[in-house]
This record gives sequence, structure tokens and C-alpha cells, in this order.
Amino acid sequence: MIQVYVALGANLSQPIEQLNNACQALLSIAEDNSFSISPYYRSVPMGDVQQPDYVNAVAGFKTDLAPIHLLDALQKIENEQGRLRTLRWGPRTLDLDLLLYGNEHINLPRLTVPHYGMKQRSFVLVPLFDLTPTLILPDKTPLASLITDCLTAELQQAQ
Ligand code: ATP
Ligand code: MG
Ligand code: MG
Repeated sequence: MIQVYVALGANLSQPIEQLNNACQALLSIAEDNSFSISPYYRSVPMGDVQQPDYVNAVAGFKTDLAPIHLLDALQKIENEQGRLRTLRWGPRTLDLDLLLYGNEHINLPRLTVPHYGMKQRSFVLVPLFDLTPTLILPDKTPLASLITDCLTAELQQAQ
């Protein structure tokens, strides 16, 4: 069994409800008693598209699914919650990004792990740190070394 971390993000159709529903769906693919979820945060959108603020969180759980099957499961949940793929970094009902799959480095056409953007994104690092403050990333960087006051100040509690 592998410990995995997934970033959740939503900014359409009642984002908090979207994250709550996504947690239920992730719980159903997680091994028993392995699921945890960070607090929800509100963040300002990346990129140049005008759109509502995001609600973000990170979930951690254990799974036996192979990486690509886990990605399939995440994309199925996104689709079931009405995800449409239009603009890059455009508004969405739900985004589920696989951040970490144990300590593995994965480079497949459809899947790069660790997620390429995670070390730059406050809305990923801060909730991940809430869940697992002693985490060491696969490249040996302690997660704690990436957490700064400036990063934390970019986020607000969403509820
Ligand atoms: P970003 O990846 O910058 O956060 P995004 O989440 O909006 O942007 P998506 O439209 O959700 O991007 O995904 C685009 C593609 O990224 C997906 O079709 C998927 O195959 C691929 N992908 C590669 N690595 C990952 C990963 N670690 N988690 C989720 N999707 C990934
Ligand atoms: Mg994303
Ligand atoms: Mg995505």
C-alpha cells in the first residue's frame, strides 16, 4: 500500500460543496481508516483569466491503485462533478491533482509525479504541511523548509 497526497481545488458551483463531495468520493477509493483532509483555504486564482477565488485543500490516503489507475479514478471524480476542460487554468468545478505517490518519481505521458507545480504553490504546500508537517519530499527537501510566512499569508481559511 502506498501513501498518496491529492490537491483539491474548486471555484464554481459552490466550491465548498464540491470539495465535500470530492472527499466522499476519495474516501470510497482510500484504504479503510487511511483518509485525512486538511483545512479548506481560499486562494486567488493563478494566471490571467478573470474568475472567482478558489477553495483548496489537500487529502492524504493509502491505496493499492497503480499510479495511472489512480489518475483515472481522480479524473472520473472530476468528470462526475461536471469538470469541463476549456481554458488552461480556467474556472472549474473540481480539480484533483496527484501530488505525491509515496516517494516515487513518475514520468508518463499523462502523469508527472511529484506534481510539477507543487513546490511553487502556497495552496498546495500549506495544506500539505497541515496534514503532514514532517514530510520529506522525494527529492529529499523537507516540506517544512518550503513553508514561509509570506506563503501562508497568501491564503485565508475558507471555513
Ligand atoms: P495544473 O496541472 O497546472 O495544476 P490543471 O490542474 O488545470 O493545471 P488539468 O486540466 O487538470 O490541469 O490536467 C491536465 C493534464 O495533466 C491531465 O490530463 C493529466 O493527464 C495531466 N497530469 C500530469 N500529471 C498530473 C498529476 N500529477 N495530477 C493530475 N494530472 C496530471
Ligand atoms: Mg491543477
Ligand atoms: Mg488538474
